[in-house]
Amino acid sequence: MHLRLRQHQHDQLVPDRVRHRAVHRRRYTLGFDRRTRPLVRLSRDSLLSFNRTGMASWPSKRRSSVGSQSGPGFGGTPVKIGHEATQAFDRVPTYRHDVTCSDTSIRQEVAVQVQFWGTRGSIPRPGPTTIRYGGNTLCHEIRTARGTLVIIDCGTGLHGLGLKLLSGGRGLAGHILISHTHWDHIQGVPFFAPFFVPGHKWDIYGPKGLNQSLRGTLAGQMQHAYFPITPDEFGASIRYHDLLEGTFEIDDIKVTTQYLNHPALTLGYRLEADGATIVYCCDHEPFSRDVAEGHREFFGPDQQHADFIEGADLLIHDAQYTAAEYPSKVGWGHSSTEFVVKLAQHTKVKHVVLTHHDPLRTDEALDGIVEKVRDGLKANHSTVLVSAATEGEVIEVKSSSALASRSSREDFSAMTSVRPALSHRSVLIKVADVELATALGGAVIAEGLRANFCSNADTARKLIEQDPPSLAIIDHAIAHDNETAVLELLRSTKGGELPVVMVAAREHEEKGVTDWLTTPFTDSYARTKIRAWVLRESCRWIRAPIPEDEPARLTSLRALDLLDTGPEERFDRITRVATALFNVPMATITLVDERRQWFKSCQGTAGREDPRDASFCAHVVSNREPMIVVDTLSDERFADNPLVLGGPRIRFYAGYPLTLDDGGCIGTLCLLDTRPRTLKELDLEQLRDLALIVMEQFQTLMVERAQRSRQF
Ligand SMILES: [Zn+2]
Ligand SMILES: [Zn+2]
Repeated sequence: MHLRLRQHQHDQLVPDRVRHRAVHRRRYTLGFDRRTRPLVRLSRDSLLSFNRTGMASWPSKRRSSVGSQSGPGFGGTPVKIGHEATQAFDRVPTYRHDVTCSDTSIRQEVAVQVQFWGTRGSIPRPGPTTIRYGGNTLCHEIRTARGTLVIIDCGTGLHGLGLKLLSGGRGLAGHILISHTHWDHIQGVPFFAPFFVPGHKWDIYGPKGLNQSLRGTLAGQMQHAYFPITPDEFGASIRYHDLLEGTFEIDDIKVTTQYLNHPALTLGYRLEADGATIVYCCDHEPFSRDVAEGHREFFGPDQQHADFIEGADLLIHDAQYTAAEYPSKVGWGHSSTEFVVKLAQHTKVKHVVLTHHDPLRTDEALDGIVEKVRDGLKANHSTVLVSAATEGEVIEVKSSSALASRSSREDFSAMTSVRPALSHRSVLIKVADVELATALGGAVIAEGLRANFCSNADTARKLIEQDPPSLAIIDHAIAHDNETAVLELLRSTKGGELPVVMVAAREHEEKGVTDWLTTPFTDSYARTKIRAWVLRESCRWIRAPIPEDEPARLTSLRALDLLDTGPEERFDRITRVATALFNVPMATITLVDERRQWFKSCQGTAGREDPRDASFCAHVVSNREPMIVVDTLSDERFADNPLVLGGPRIRFYAGYPLTLDDGGCIGTLCLLDTRPRTLKELDLEQLRDLALIVMEQFQTLMVERAQRSRQF
């Protein structure tokens, strides 16, 4: 990664590729006329517009003063795209920092360019005390080498970005990722000029709500009482996408999402393009107070947050408070600088940018914070680069061999539709305190879900049978009051996949507990937590349970010493015969270790391994029984599995367990098809015969190895 700053020149904020072509137009373009033709200033009072073939014409009087239909401007006044835009454009703020591109070799390596258009959290704070780091609320422009444009968050900084995009004659298509819909992240939306220009195409993505669509929430701030224009009057074509946790693609960018810890449902974004990784986490508070205050190492949900960030080249993270301020802000949904720096070190991030600056934080105070952090890192010989987000600053992120994310959501599509409807879901609650029970019940109902209360393991069992819950919330006191039977029951529900949230004053590691709701909590915080877990649960496939003999099984697998070895004819021969014999396009010999299924031999599929979470073979290993799935799409355990929804699009699966002489079940011989198959077509006996040949080969291999070691 590479960061160079130099004094601003507005023209140089665009990638070089387009710089040569567009330099003249960009310098003088002021905006667009009604037909999206660029309007060009020849002198202070003269405008010229270009048609598509480059023919120039003087704009008509009507066209040059299209008034409020064309776009919003500063201070809520609609900008008049045309002559009037001259004045508005002249007021686009000057940026302090810019990229130096004098060295062409460096330029070529730059994969992604990030520009900060807003750095302030909560509320805009312009003025003399924030002039250097900026007063606009959060907004980031991200552009890949290929020119894909992604904007993250739409605080008031979006206004300046919109004007720049129009002035560049670009911005015809772009993508906007919204972390959550608190005002400081969406207030720029009604003032984003490109939304008002016909012909522009925008895709907006944000976290899916339970009862309201992203579009509905954004439209809320543009109701008549607050704003004169509704989203229906946007001239651009805009598509809205509701996101869950998972991955999706925007042109050349792979985007992974994960829920953050905030009083509103909030997504963090991990963007990977051309070998560069940028992670954005605003707004976020550590899940555990002990982790937040540095009293203990990362565990549970905080470790999951770290896994999501792992190895990023650039991390842009909420760091609104200092450690000294944090105790009076617990539950507000933000992080301390000290926590973020520790997180960056823990996750081997190269450069961390502290942002979501507190509105009361002056430039001098921020300087002091950064200086203190850098001194601490220097003393520890840390190589992590730390800076505070500065409005106007551009950071160039070069390709690197970034570590892959270890997010558990990696293999799930973030765009999956949730089935069945969320209104059909229920939450099981077991808490002793009446006030707490009432508050939780209210939060569940407010989210459009059903609340079922139980008092002991028997009533819990009955309720689980009658109305299978999507989430269970239990009280910490109860779990330790000789009533652990409830917790045991919940642990075994849905094959151990039912999320269990424990309510307690402080979180700690506890078997069977997926997350914590720490008291005291606000209504919106509880609702957000409930929503996140119900959404997560509702679109999960069932992962195979871990076998009881897992440690012994893994020891046997390691002893075989076959993982990550090259192809061998003795195994490939068997999978070849299997594909021919059963007339299936794919057959594999699969070994299942702690985290993946790895193919010793595979016919018809190019991949070498898949995550264990998505593995069909892990089910066979867990049950030690052959498994046949006639049609994955009609099987609840696999319908949403990433290997079904995405490549290789498995519709049929038949797996036979492979066991060693010591009894350890280490993998499968399996057949796969992209079409559903009936059971009759497959003779299980024949599959068993082939599996036995594989197992014999395992034994032969071990004997050969033992002989070799005796020889030496
Ligand atoms: Zn915020
Ligand atoms: Zn927020």
